[in-house]
Amino acid sequence: MRNIIVAASIAASFLAPNARAADAVAQRLYVLDCGTNYGKDQSRWSPGVNVGQPILLADNCYLIRHGKQTLLWDTGQPDEIAGKPDGVETAGGAIIARRTKTLAAQLAEIKVKPSDITYVAISHSHGDHIGNLKLFPRSTIVMQQAEWDFAFADPAKSPLPASQKVMKLDGDYDLFGDGSVMILSTPGHTPGHESLLVELRKTGPVLMSGDAAHFKDNWDNRRVPGGNTSKEQTLASMNRLAELVSDLHAQLWINHDKPQREAQKLAPAFYE
Ligand SMILES: [Zn+2]
Repeated sequence: MRNIIVAASIAASFLAPNARAADAVAQRLYVLDCGTNYGKDQSRWSPGVNVGQPILLADNCYLIRHGKQTLLWDTGQPDEIAGKPDGVETAGGAIIARRTKTLAAQLAEIKVKPSDITYVAISHSHGDHIGNLKLFPRSTIVMQQAEWDFAFADPAKSPLPASQKVMKLDGDYDLFGDGSVMILSTPGHTPGHESLLVELRKTGPVLMSGDAAHFKDNWDNRRVPGGNTSKEQTLASMNRLAELVSDLHAQLWINHDKPQREAQKLAPAFYE
């Protein structure tokens, strides 16, 4: 019930009269190439489907400029991988991670200093999303309390220094207080997985689904990877996101969908 009310209020805030949208701070959204994941067997993500077939997945990060404030959404593969043309095996050899450009270089290209980034939010705690957290010791990390408890609570396992500022959320959150950037709780891939809804003047609403689904075919068929922490929560989260896409006429951006990334403008180009 709570989720339905929240979804309705989010839809209402996005569908409010244009006067409100006109008052909102203009935003820019940059798509950053944060690497690729070569999966040796697609069925890791789509149980029983395309067993033994390889799949190439994108790995994106997104930078949102909101007036003088900035949000980096996910940090991708570690920048060190860019120095290794053959990539690095992850997930016990099931995946080869590669990067052609570093995150640091792409931020420099758009004249954003890591130390100036206000917030760094993570969709979840997997290595291909948190690989560069160390570049942002002065930013506030934004994540769900449930994800913190799942992955970062043990200081020996946390990638964050003790001095890092961390904003721990319990559900949805209006990051800048004007409804233009909404963090949405979408658990299931991990216990504290979250998604991001951004309102842009020309482009309209864009919903970044994180790893609620890994690629369009999985989204279309509501397939849940075997490694997710909850199948039920994943399906509920996908349904929630689908309702928002439909209610808001939002674009759905699936982080790891490689064909979708090929069709997008990459930084230094941007959406506004
Ligand atoms: Zn991922």
